[in-house]
Amino acid sequence: MKVAIIGGGAAGMTAASRIKALQPSWEVVVFEKSKYVSHAPCGVPFYISGMVEHFEELCTYPTEYFVQERGLDVRTQTKVVEVGDHYLIAEKDGKEYTYEWDKLLFATGAKAERLSTKNDEMDGILYVDNFEKAREVKSAAMKANRVVIVGSGYIGVEMALALVKLGKRVTVIEASERPLPEYDAEMAAILKSEMEKYLELKLSEKVIDFEGKDKVEKVITNKSEYSCDLVVVAAGMSPNTKLAEKIVKIGKKGAIKTNSRMQTSNEDVYAAGDCAESINLVTKKPDWIAAAAPANKMGYVAGVNIAGKELHYPGSLKSQFSSFMDLEIGKTGLSEHEAVKEGYDVVSTFITSRTSAKYLPNGLIHLKVVAERNGRLLGVQAMGKGVAMRIYGAIVLLYNNCSIKDLFFADFPYYPPLTRVWDPLVIAARNLFRKVGLP
Ligand SMILES: Cc1cc2nc3c(=O)[nH]c(=O)nc-3n(C[C@H](O)[C@H](O)[C@H](O)COP(=O)(O)OP(=O)(O)OC[C@H]3O[C@@H](n4cnc5c(N)ncnc54)[C@H](O)[C@@H]3O)c2cc1C
Repeated sequence: MKVAIIGGGAAGMTAASRIKALQPSWEVVVFEKSKYVSHAPCGVPFYISGMVEHFEELCTYPTEYFVQERGLDVRTQTKVVEVGDHYLIAEKDGKEYTYEWDKLLFATGAKAERLSTKNDEMDGILYVDNFEKAREVKSAAMKANRVVIVGSGYIGVEMALALVKLGKRVTVIEASERPLPEYDAEMAAILKSEMEKYLELKLSEKVIDFEGKDKVEKVITNKSEYSCDLVVVAAGMSPNTKLAEKIVKIGKKGAIKTNSRMQTSNEDVYAAGDCAESINLVTKKPDWIAAAAPANKMGYVAGVNIAGKELHYPGSLKSQFSSFMDLEIGKTGLSEHEAVKEGYDVVSTFITSRTSAKYLPNGLIHLKVVAERNGRLLGVQAMGKGVAMRIYGAIVLLYNNCSIKDLFFADFPYYPPLTRVWDPLVIAARNLFRKVGLP
């Protein structure tokens, strides 16, 4: 049996390792267009800021490990340029060759949205869509003084923080009226005031073009213009499906349509990670959920099924963490505006609470809990201190379709330095009792 895997990121390498572990005699070939496999794009902002010194540290294992320890055939700097019925064409050093496969996995990740302005390919304008770009951004940033970041999704926010830490003057330009637009307004306002302490944040402003002689010198928006010597574009991502479109169906959200075994519309072809569709566990509908932990798990499930065993991927909650300076940020499930857009009859509460007993050193957490009027929990957003444990708690409840009552009664323990006897999650649940008809 010959298995071809296109893409050596989280999804591709997890799947490849699983197949080889379950079927040691099979030939498993990974085609990766860059020099690196099992890389961690999530670590890129920390390399840019200097917290991680060497770029290679961002790879979980070197390529040789997969070859020597796991018996995989890993072909780096090899780009797949065409895929057809049980064959693919790969290109290395300008030479093309054909590889025939019995089973195929697309693990091609996501690509950055282009701004599509007249001069958006100008020197000094960099897109952060792949791991190898990190080096280019870092060396350009070392020479720059003024940097403009386009977009304030979590990648834009993390890149802005990295560049502030490098000592750069940073301007962030965001078309929406708030940073992290998927969060609700009350939550984003907290991040906005934190960001504004360290950089210039321009909201409801759209980049229309760039100007410069040999390289970018100015960003032009619909409201103003900004001098700069580097632009980092983080204006959204989309699934990288170009190769797949000829042989498999694409779902409504633009990612490769899959079933719970990560199998596509073609029975010998699977897809996993950022290029694949999966189920949103809150809406129960197919969605595009691009994140590292789901990518690894989708890869695991695809690998098991390709190897002839059976495992189903239930979907995910679009959970996420980020941070800006000391502000921890987290979200799981739907925000209020996302839930309204999905047509739910929504109730919500927003609280600010201490995170531990009042007689000990304290932090503050801002929490928003969203539920359906019938009491079903829909999502939690948090910013401040102690965010991770509240989001982890909420995730387990959301994963199990729980209600506000379950959030109230879940046995979150008390210990004065770490929590409150009425934990912020429990206070928020209690606030919602009246709104969902509980005493
Ligand atoms: C700056 C940044 C920060 C991030 N931070 C986080 C975070 O904190 N938490 C989180 O959960 N997620 C984060 N992500 C997202 C996370 O990195 C992705 O969800 C994850 O990498 C997806 O894994 P994947 O295997 O699907 O795709 P990728 O890791 O993108 O791997 C896809 C691979 O396919 C290769 N490829 C594509 N086309 C071809 C071809 N034609 N031939 C050969 N090879 C090809 C690419 O070179 C790439 O190596 C971040 C992303 C970025 C860019």
